Amino acid sequence: MKINVENLARVAGREATYEMEASPAALNLATEEAVFGKFRLKIHLRTTGKGLVGNLEARGQVRLPCSRCLEEFVLPVEVFFQQEWRKEVSGDPLRRDGHRPGEAEQSPWSEDLLPFDGLSLEIGEVLRDRILLSLPMKPLCSPDCRGLCPVCGTNLNEKTCNCRPEPVDPRLLPLQKLWKLGKD
Ligand SMILES: [Zn+2]
Ligand SMILES: [Zn+2]
Repeated sequence: MKINVENLARVAGREATYEMEASPAALNLATEEAVFGKFRLKIHLRTTGKGLVGNLEARGQVRLPCSRCLEEFVLPVEVFFQQEWRKEVSGDPLRRDGHRPGEAEQSPWSEDLLPFDGLSLEIGEVLRDRILLSLPMKPLCSPDCRGLCPVCGTNLNEKTCNCRPEPVDPRLLPLQKLWKLGKD
């Protein structure tokens, strides 16, 4: 997914804001478990002598399974970040991966910089990466999701089951025995 910035980028110090909608396909957002909706994008660009600096915002939703109860739920997704694009300078090729040993600190090129050809910006990849990074490692449908019973698999948010370990309060043991007898 690209933005044409040919005219904007000609003069340093110019600014422009782009607002658009991006489909999950445009952002290449297809993962095994997460189903994304459309994203609203707001991209503010400022030209510098060397390229462009952008403030990027993306808002959307993803449907994914809860890591405790496995029920699917909808999670709002919002990412905000700054990204810089620079024109490649001949003799100093833009290196995105791998630093020369000992030069990582001094190098003007870092992983935060992306190449810019003077015509258009590739925004899809960087948005995709940020959106995927923003997803929780263990998504929860609610902070107090009670999950599944490890024995019978009952969704404990919906009902309780009888195979949960009973509280081991000795004063309750006689009651517990009676209750089990009653159950049989
Ligand atoms: Zn859950
Ligand atoms: Zn159970």
